[in-house]
Amino acid sequence: MRMSKLLMPTLREVPAEAEITSHKLMLRAGMIRRLAAGIYSYLPLGIRTLKKVEEIVREEMDNAGAQELLMPALLPAEAYQASGRWEVFGASMFKMKDRYERDYCLGPTHEELFTQAVIDNVKSYKEYPMTLYQIQTKYRDEGRPRFGVMRSREFVMKDAYSFDLNDAGLDESYRKMYDAYCKIFKRLGLDFTIVDADSGAMGGSGSQEFMVKSPVGEDGIAYCDACGYAANYEKAECIPQEKPFEDGDFDIEKIHTANAHTIEELVSFLGAEPYNFAKTIIYKADDKYIAAMVRGDREINEVKLKNLVGCIDDLELAEPFMVKQLTNAEVGFAGPVGLEIPVYADKEVAMMKNFIVGANETDMHYKNVNINKDFTPVQVADIRVIEEGDVCPKCGQPIKTAQGIEVGHIFKLGTKYSDSLGLQYLDEDGKSKTVTMGCYGIGVTRCLAAAIEQNNDEKGIIWPVSIAPYQVMVIPVNSKIEEQVSKAEEIYEELKAQGIDALIDDRNERAGVKFNDADLIGIPVRIVVGKKCGEGIVEYKLRSEAEAAEKTIDDAIKSAVEFVKSNI
Ligand code: ATP
Ligand code: MG
Repeated sequence: MRMSKLLMPTLREVPAEAEITSHKLMLRAGMIRRLAAGIYSYLPLGIRTLKKVEEIVREEMDNAGAQELLMPALLPAEAYQASGRWEVFGASMFKMKDRYERDYCLGPTHEELFTQAVIDNVKSYKEYPMTLYQIQTKYRDEGRPRFGVMRSREFVMKDAYSFDLNDAGLDESYRKMYDAYCKIFKRLGLDFTIVDADSGAMGGSGSQEFMVKSPVGEDGIAYCDACGYAANYEKAECIPQEKPFEDGDFDIEKIHTANAHTIEELVSFLGAEPYNFAKTIIYKADDKYIAAMVRGDREINEVKLKNLVGCIDDLELAEPFMVKQLTNAEVGFAGPVGLEIPVYADKEVAMMKNFIVGANETDMHYKNVNINKDFTPVQVADIRVIEEGDVCPKCGQPIKTAQGIEVGHIFKLGTKYSDSLGLQYLDEDGKSKTVTMGCYGIGVTRCLAAAIEQNNDEKGIIWPVSIAPYQVMVIPVNSKIEEQVSKAEEIYEELKAQGIDALIDDRNERAGVKFNDADLIGIPVRIVVGKKCGEGIVEYKLRSEAEAAEKTIDDAIKSAVEFVKSNI
């Protein structure tokens, strides 16, 4: 490609709309442009990379024996109504009506439609096992679209669904997808971690997420270097930790705590430690209210709590007016003693003695509170967020934590959708049985952003060869010098002839501009044709390395081709 013809609106300034590196660089490199919140157009450099990611995904899915098909994005409501997800998706589903007032949505994920397709088209049990996939645009009206294509409202997903006769078959299909995912993310140049994931209140027998560790990741992951355990925060089991509580048989006592609302304020006011307190948080769980308690130095994990309570919608903090109504106090003084809604307590709360809680009265707390004496929770369970300082639930060594970007998710669904939609088969003996399913997603557009998060420097993107929009870039330093231009053209043509995705900067720009753009858009190999080209010498540089080397033209071409072929 000739850069003089390429629509590549690079930006020198960092656009104000971007918070994280990948978003900034995708905008600055002219890969994407924002159309509305969480909705982006892909310009030529963007779509080239996206297609390369898609192609890697496609190849490995095909290698794993999955079959590609393509479903519509505009979907009639029926299948989602039958599975119950028309309601479950709530506000995050884009819903609409057609001219006859019939309900439609833009597909957020396609379990229902694939299940229906198998019901309609598979006639014999002999056709199983079968794994179907598509690479397709998904729509989710995210509460907080942000970080560019990392969390957008329209995004490309590869979604796959496996259909098996029994659980052993599902295990095998799942393992094939697991292996394929490892190959895919490796080829995309991503350094990834596989974590055990929560399979949600709806069941399913196993789930793992493929995470790219990054400070901008929105998911917490806990891992153990000693034994290799890794889980996301929702799944990571917390082992209760002891604290030195004061023993003794004290009576509960109400204390005036003036304007101390937060744990920090209370700690300094009462001269206690944060672990001497138990926090009580009131949540709205579907249409009822509940209270949850963790030790004062801990945080509640709302997914663990949601699964324990068994509600359908995500938990929401109770509205302040409801907190007042339920506790008879301003927000900040809720406690379990005398509270009339169900109280769920973390396991560590059950180990506390003579602790402090809110007294359900403004400016008041109770001290010397003891579980099962002063209040009784409906359930004691692990409902807290794991932290550094916790121990590995598998081997007892210290746990480490990190933020991760979820790039892929594999999930043993079991019979959830085949049950609700009626996907059965007749076995050899003519007996009716239920098909068991798995689902497997990759955030294709999110992978692009994740790859940039992991591969960049202060000058710009450093593309892995496998997904670079162009693999080698040729730069004549001075476009007014005929010899440089013609040598650069020769190199460019030769690279193309050898099957390389080559780019030539034939623009009439200053060398500095060309070099800056080359670094910004992150082409892996750069061949600069300058003053020494008369002697047959050019400069050869990898984007990932600081130093350039002088090489003969032939050598430079040979090195470039070898580098590309060995890193693809
Ligand atoms: P998240 O927890 O990040 O919202 P999810 O668990 O809801 O994601 P899945 O339903 O598992 O997402 O979808 C499969 C994959 O699609 C995810 O692993 C992720 O890589 C990608 N994905 C999900 N939501 C988005 C989004 N809003 N923008 C871009 N990619 C997304
Ligand atoms: Mg997921």
